[in-house]
Amino acid sequence: MHPQPAESLYDCNLIGKMKTAIAIAAHPDDIEMMMAGTLLLLKKAGYEIHYMDLAFGNVGSVVYDSETTKKTRLEEAKNAARILGAHFHPPFCNDLEIFYDLNSLRRVAAVIRDVKPTVVLTHSPVDYMEDHTTTCRLAVTGAFARGMPNFETVPAYAVGDYDCTVYHALPHTLRDPLRHVIVPGAFVNTTAVQPTKMEALKAHQSQQSWLDVSQKMNSYLQTMEETSLAVGKMSKQFTHAEGWRRHLHVGFCTADADPLHELGADYLVNESYEKELNAGI
Ligand SMILES: [Zn+2]
Repeated sequence: MHPQPAESLYDCNLIGKMKTAIAIAAHPDDIEMMMAGTLLLLKKAGYEIHYMDLAFGNVGSVVYDSETTKKTRLEEAKNAARILGAHFHPPFCNDLEIFYDLNSLRRVAAVIRDVKPTVVLTHSPVDYMEDHTTTCRLAVTGAFARGMPNFETVPAYAVGDYDCTVYHALPHTLRDPLRHVIVPGAFVNTTAVQPTKMEALKAHQSQQSWLDVSQKMNSYLQTMEETSLAVGKMSKQFTHAEGWRRHLHVGFCTADADPLHELGADYLVNESYEKELNAGI
């Protein structure tokens, strides 16, 4: 027989609570690159939306020092969240120092417990750089621990018993580190919100020259535009799109939970991907 948890450990205020969605990414501007369109559409569909980058973005300059860059990028990220109409959750570590460690997990899990998201948007489980991959792992376990009172968060929040569906964005360049193209399991039509997504990305002004120099992106704005057009083309239906892969439900939600369906005609499941998933069963 399993002992029942003390009632007070559970947050019982979820009934009638507004539905919430959170995007959890590694660096300032990652949400705007691959996730913000879907976040904006969820807001239109009645969700309260939340925005969290784990790292300060302090490495993102070849001109300014770490502290100056950190301050600049914090303001830019806050601005971007304001443009998106999202609640801002501050980052807590340096770029290239996002590790799957206990302190980071406690902090990410705390935000999840505070927000109580029924939708979590995060990076691809495999992406072009380690900060993204690790952020994904922290977000997934943070969500997994939402109802486990014996796992402590910093700061402490009451646990909640609710379905939470995790979706993974496409990796940067739409390819995995071994160059394979990643085909999404579903598409979200972001055409209508592309201007707002672009405005939010423009808030990261400091990134124009940095990405030019460091990663040969001739314009980070152009990169976002080209990516969403490429995903739109993959969908064969939408002009601009974001692609998603839904995390396995175990420990998160019911097997068929797919709340992005609430976006109606702007959500398109990739039937051939689904078919391939289920081959052999
Ligand atoms: Zn990034």
